[in-house]
Amino acid sequence: IEQTAVQNDKLAILGKIAAAIAHEIRNPLTSIRGFIQLLRPHLMNLGKEEYARIILAEIDRANDIIFEFLNSSKPTAPLTTEVPISSLLREVVLLTESEALMKGCEIEWMEHASEQPLTVSIDVKQIKQVFLNMIRNAIDAIVEVAHLRKGTIQIHAAKDGKYVAVTIRDNGQGMDERTLERLFDPFFTTKNEGTGLGLSVSYRIIRNHGGVIEVDSQQEEWTQFVIRLPITIGDHTRPSSSLGEW
Ligand code: ADP
Repeated sequence: IEQTAVQNDKLAILGKIAAAIAHEIRNPLTSIRGFIQLLRPHLMNLGKEEYARIILAEIDRANDIIFEFLNSSKPTAPLTTEVPISSLLREVVLLTESEALMKGCEIEWMEHASEQPLTVSIDVKQIKQVFLNMIRNAIDAIVEVAHLRKGTIQIHAAKDGKYVAVTIRDNGQGMDERTLERLFDPFFTTKNEGTGLGLSVSYRIIRNHGGVIEVDSQQEEWTQFVIRLPITIGDHTRPSSSLGEW
């Protein structure tokens, strides 16, 4: 509990910083990008086009980091709509399937079968981002052990009391103790190209929706995330923790 409180403080501070400076950094980045584009043919003539490529890639990376902050650090309430969790998952699977296949892993999505669809009141864009993050992390983890086994990502949703529990399980490289302890920390990453923001942002988004994320992993074997979101069948009131603040 103590650790969660510290983490929330960290996120609160980061949120304020993000909101305050992200735009200011973004504008100069955009003009740098434009001028590099203009210089590109000249660099090409000098046989230095590679420099332009690297500069552009790094600018894009910086932009990605800012985007991940901004995307969910806005101090406005989430834009809430009521959707069946299955249609959201279907879309997320569609979006990631080809990327997964290209990297040699299969997504098994077991659609929830029941008369009553499991509905959640969510900011679709934000929750979609959470699931996309998690599936991309699963793909990354699978790629690391692609020489050992065929990668599979299993996704399913089930009713769990007042919640919809979405499980995302992969048979990728898993995590060691240290990673398990720190994976929700902002900027914690074990990847060369990682931002370390995916899970900290996801954590906050889910919390703002009145939900929780749980993680379990076996190093070298598998990782499983369970995301619980409040079910909203016949309940149009919003949980009090969903004001969208950091
Ligand atoms: P990033 O993906 O940029 O590193 P995240 O916050 O999304 O940032 O993830 C933080 C770290 O958590 C990752 O670098 C990785 O070590 C670990 N991680 C997340 N998801 C998984 C997974 N499915 N399997 C193994 N490790 C994972």
